[in-house]
Amino acid sequence: MATDTEIDEIAKRRDDVLTRLTQTTTPPPVLVAVSKQQSDARIDAMLATGQRVFGENRVQEADSRWSARRTAYPALQLRLIGPLQSNKAEDAVRIFDVIETLDRSKLVHALKAASEKLGKSPELLIQVNTGNEPQKAGVSGAGVEALLREARSEGLNVTGLMCIPPAGEPAAPHFAFLALLAKRFDLSNLSMGMSGDYEVAARLGATCVRVGTALFGER
Ligand SMILES: *Cc1c(COP(=O)(O)O)cnc(C)c1O
Repeated sequence: MATDTEIDEIAKRRDDVLTRLTQTTTPPPVLVAVSKQQSDARIDAMLATGQRVFGENRVQEADSRWSARRTAYPALQLRLIGPLQSNKAEDAVRIFDVIETLDRSKLVHALKAASEKLGKSPELLIQVNTGNEPQKAGVSGAGVEALLREARSEGLNVTGLMCIPPAGEPAAPHFAFLALLAKRFDLSNLSMGMSGDYEVAARLGATCVRVGTALFGER
């Protein structure tokens, strides 16, 4: 259980982030609270503030953390923001409302099979490796069109793009590039911006920002 002090502290952090977001664009982007590696007490405190949209980067961790809370909070929206292995596609479709990390053909087929089996089609975003970093997941900017076409031909519900800019570089050019790509392909959702740069992302067109540390404190 969360103590009153924990709830106060988390509520204050969340109010601050929401206020800052309100000062960027109208309407402000949706705030995704990134709860990976956070304690149960902090997550319960966050739920007590009314926050209902959460991001997790691991399928198994999300499952154990959220399966009971799902029942208690029917309005919950869970988003997968970390890499997905195709052998976990079925678990991911079962657990998440939105999967932000579609980045390859193999996953298109695994997600289609899982969606058909479970009779459930989560909303999907394509992750773009805007900095072309070899160690990072995501399709290149040039690869978005083909992957999008393939996903759509399989009947998947792709609604937008997501990126994680290279660490230690200004993020704004990456956000602007992602926004341009989304416009070119007529995709309405843009997931970009984390604790250090969510206001920049919001001003450049983010429809959702993924914030962990600034909301919960250090992991
Ligand atoms: C951890 C994580 C975040 C949140 O990062 P903070 O810097 O703690 O806000 C956002 N997006 C992704 C993909 C992450 O893995």
